[in-house]
Amino acid sequence: MDYLPIFVDVRKSTCLVVGGGDIAARKANLLCQAQTNVTVISPVVSDAMTVLIDGGSVNWLQATFSTDIEMPYRLVIAATDDETVNEQVYHYAKAHKILVNVADKPQLCDFILPSILDRSPIVVAVSSGGESPILARQLRTRLETLIPPSYGRLAKMVGRYRNAVKEKLPTLKMRRRFWESVLQGPIADHVLAGREQLGEQALQTAIKDSRDEVVTSGEVYLVGGGPGDPELLTFKALRLMQQADIVFYDRLVSKQVLALVRKEADQVYVGKQRAWHSVRQEEINQLLVAEAKLGKRVLRLKGGDPFIFGRGGEEIASLAAEHIPFQVVPGVTAASGCASYAGIPLTHRDYSQSCIFVTGQIKEGELDLNWAALVQPRQTVVVYMGLRGLKILSQKLQQHGLDADTPAALIQQGTTEHQKVWVSTIADLPSLAQKEQPVAPTMVIIGEVVKLHKSLAWF
Ligand code: SAH
Repeated sequence: MDYLPIFVDVRKSTCLVVGGGDIAARKANLLCQAQTNVTVISPVVSDAMTVLIDGGSVNWLQATFSTDIEMPYRLVIAATDDETVNEQVYHYAKAHKILVNVADKPQLCDFILPSILDRSPIVVAVSSGGESPILARQLRTRLETLIPPSYGRLAKMVGRYRNAVKEKLPTLKMRRRFWESVLQGPIADHVLAGREQLGEQALQTAIKDSRDEVVTSGEVYLVGGGPGDPELLTFKALRLMQQADIVFYDRLVSKQVLALVRKEADQVYVGKQRAWHSVRQEEINQLLVAEAKLGKRVLRLKGGDPFIFGRGGEEIASLAAEHIPFQVVPGVTAASGCASYAGIPLTHRDYSQSCIFVTGQIKEGELDLNWAALVQPRQTVVVYMGLRGLKILSQKLQQHGLDADTPAALIQQGTTEHQKVWVSTIADLPSLAQKEQPVAPTMVIIGEVVKLHKSLAWF
């Protein structure tokens, strides 16, 4: 982030606007909406500014700006049409350590004014860091349709009952669950649909009936985070990610996906390291059980799909044994993600009628696979974790009869901005990898369908 978003209480202070034109008037008007006192310095003022002055919201000092004036201001905004004056204002404010904004000059801004969606007390501010105010405005417009004005009423109603709920439910966790169920259920629906009285009555009843249960049982969400592109998450994944208390995530979960987990959730990295794999897995299973027993909503976030080379089955086995409720949310597995984003259909009427997923992980220097099954014609083979064992893979497939010229692709960090695709043959895969040094995670796809990459690549 280039800027820290904060909401400043300016109600008991005075802010200065230098300039009297329409832009200055817009800024002054914004300040007025935040209930601050506004002083405007300008020799002349526009009609728009006159309206504000006549309405009593703005105090006009009819003068040109000079560095003799006192600076008792909370914020300063310079919006004259004279760049020299604007710069002067900037330096003068800086000298007085007052935050300053010069209209349309990001390099002369301590703070920028975001695009605002005002559903007070809900306020959404969108900023493009000064790069593209128009884009920020378009996003604001989109949010406008998502957040109808009734959200302001809903927030106000919640505000009125916050203390009552606090008295009834002493723990933060109970209160959070209470409000989540109110805000996602029929009570909120009433208010948003304009039936405020009904909503309020229902809320009063809910408060009366609520109980502070000391131990509520936790739950584990085993969620597939997909291959990297956050837009490939399912709605369900996102919803559960947004209500987790704690998240255990893997090395494969992309930063962008992780950024969508509820901000207040504790984040625990449990990325596996090859050598002590199995010990670690047992530890993870126990961690999930322990946290859920504390009553937490535990998010186990994995790359791709949890049930495809994700050891998801083992993790929920220990939950099932302990009678801990859980949900499993599938994710886009790396095979689908990489294939789609590389323009390699996994099946195709002309080239491939079946598709096999295998793990290429070497154990004690060996690759233990059903080779006869892998060398069948008209079939696509997708190899997960195949990078280190590439040489053995290539040799064994040929030994078992796969044509040395069979097309093969390496897809590095598929669906992300770092995606790279190399196409070669099964015989040349090892030397290709030697030359290009792909980094993990990388996927191997073998079969005639790989030829289609040339014409179908789009990403
Ligand atoms: N459960 C995961 C797979 C875990 S195994 C899933 O369903 O996708 C880890 C292997 O998946 C890696 O070694 C790599 O071969 C593959 N992989 C995962 N994400 C990938 C990506 N974005 N690009 C390429 N390969 C990926």
